[in-house]
Amino acid sequence: MSFIVAIDGPAGTGKGTITKLLAEKLNLITVDTGATYRCVTLAMLKQHISLEEADKITKLLENIQIEFKKIDGKDRVFLNGKDVTMEIRSKEVTDFVSQVSSLICVRLKMVELQRKMAQGKDVIMEGRDIGTYVFPNANVKFYIDADVEERAKRRVEQNKQKGIQTSYEEVLANLKFRDQNDKQKEMGALKVAEDAIVIDTTHMSIEEEMQMMLPIIQKRRSENCE
Ligand code: C5P
Repeated sequence: MSFIVAIDGPAGTGKGTITKLLAEKLNLITVDTGATYRCVTLAMLKQHISLEEADKITKLLENIQIEFKKIDGKDRVFLNGKDVTMEIRSKEVTDFVSQVSSLICVRLKMVELQRKMAQGKDVIMEGRDIGTYVFPNANVKFYIDADVEERAKRRVEQNKQKGIQTSYEEVLANLKFRDQNDKQKEMGALKVAEDAIVIDTTHMSIEEEMQMMLPIIQKRRSENCE
């Protein structure tokens, strides 16, 4: 029996960081669903495919291969056999991904892939629609939020550490655009699942977040084993 932890929320709330820390502590497999949508976006950009070219998108999705691998202890993302871990974080991909992930055909294919990645495993999966659509019966659901200005500050800092130069203003504008677009999606819209535990991390450190989330997951996991 698999055990699923769903972590949803808007961009820049620190979902990725907390997901990695919790996964290490609890020996769970991480699935970054945003990375799957970023891979499709990168593939479309590389092949100069626009949002209107439905046939080309269908063909691209038929042949796409997305894999997550751990190499030397680090999480790497592979698109059609090539390591694209850095490339999928580029400004071009970030600016386009919300529109690409609004396409129903893209969502259907990615959700199928995400569910397959979790099959029979103990998983912590982060995204926008995990608790509402991908795994509505997840064992634990969190919705992580924070003020958009704080999220922009964190994302600029995170980008800096990854060697990506971005200004506060451009990051803030992109986050606001993605928040709006992600909440209005026809399918898989960003929203709080009825049974999700909502955490506002605006004034919280990552340690405080851990202290809050860890015992909740541990309790549910032990109940799951009974
Ligand atoms: O999490 P990340 O910021 O990398 O996600 C990139 C984009 O992918 C989001 O802005 C959102 O539009 C989309 N996404 C989604 N559903 C998910 C995860 C991400 O639509 N489960």
